[in-house]
Amino acid sequence: MRISRCDTCRTIVPFDAQTCAGCGSPLGYLPDRCVVRTLDTTDDPAVFLVRGERHALWRCMNAAWGCNWMVPADAGEIWCRACRLTRNRPDAERTDAMSAWMIAESAKRRLVHQLDSLALPIEARSDGAPDGLAFDLVHLGAGDDAIGMATTGHAGGIVTLDLTESDDLHRAVVREQMAEHYRTVIGHLRHEIGHHFWNRLVGQSDHLAQFRKLFGDERANYAEALAAHHDRRSLGWDDQVFVTAYASAHPLEDWAETFAHYLHILDVVTTAESFATLDDGEPSPDPASWGLDIAAFELGDLLARFRPINASLTELAACVGAPPPYPFDPTGRVVTKLEFVHRRVAAHADRDRFYASN
Ligand SMILES: [Zn+2]
Ligand SMILES: [Zn+2]
Ligand SMILES: [Zn+2]
Repeated sequence: MRISRCDTCRTIVPFDAQTCAGCGSPLGYLPDRCVVRTLDTTDDPAVFLVRGERHALWRCMNAAWGCNWMVPADAGEIWCRACRLTRNRPDAERTDAMSAWMIAESAKRRLVHQLDSLALPIEARSDGAPDGLAFDLVHLGAGDDAIGMATTGHAGGIVTLDLTESDDLHRAVVREQMAEHYRTVIGHLRHEIGHHFWNRLVGQSDHLAQFRKLFGDERANYAEALAAHHDRRSLGWDDQVFVTAYASAHPLEDWAETFAHYLHILDVVTTAESFATLDDGEPSPDPASWGLDIAAFELGDLLARFRPINASLTELAACVGAPPPYPFDPTGRVVTKLEFVHRRVAAHADRDRFYASN
């Protein structure tokens, strides 16, 4: 993501911040520019302006729950672009569930931000778009907000996340049980959104044959493949072919895992490089300048930029006694699969459509 500084005091502002830690200025994320900016207050306490501009903005209705995204005051919306995508969430009375939900929404905002900066079109679910995207962020199997027999997953545009995954201890236990190297909330969301984009990027494209050659035939029986995977998961996996053990379960899981890891790698590189170029100039109000022109570089270049950054990430984490944040180094056929994802994403990016609909 693109990091910015406070316009008042030049403190670096985190992506999720509503207020500058340096000077107390109000901050807000502008979805149409993909960046956090310093805001000026007005006579109306609900209305803010971007410094030097006249366009009135409101805070998203979920500001009390940590959302710092802004909504144009004349748009007729009360929730921001990211929050509007949530279809089911916990009851506000249940404070434990609300804390878990806030963690999930924060990860979801990062996801929406990244998809927007890639110009990957996000079509919200509606009567006119029955397979459009929506999120159910709920506690499954327990509590009032449980919905049917759902599990964390993707089905026909609905991404469901069990909010139990917001709990660090729960994730650590499951990661151990499943012999996984990595398990995060944003990892789940990036994986499930990978399923959502499969049809759009591959299934409906001329690249299905190439997909099957690389990843395998996605028509393989899903239930049988998953059952077989759970039987053999303790045996490890071939990391020259699959990015994770779970990727080896089924071609569609391989795609979703590879897609998620592509987004991880891209976010690490763009965020690190954004820190490096922080003082090159002010964020430009020109939308054409914020985007990430991924068609302009090869996957090999991206990995070459990623490896030293990931090495520093690992060492910096060790400095404070934390485990390696991203314990992977893609190699062999995994790189070829990442390359396929990269080309499909680059081909699907539709900057004109995004600007027109936003
Ligand atoms: Zn400040
Ligand atoms: Zn919001
Ligand atoms: Zn999956």
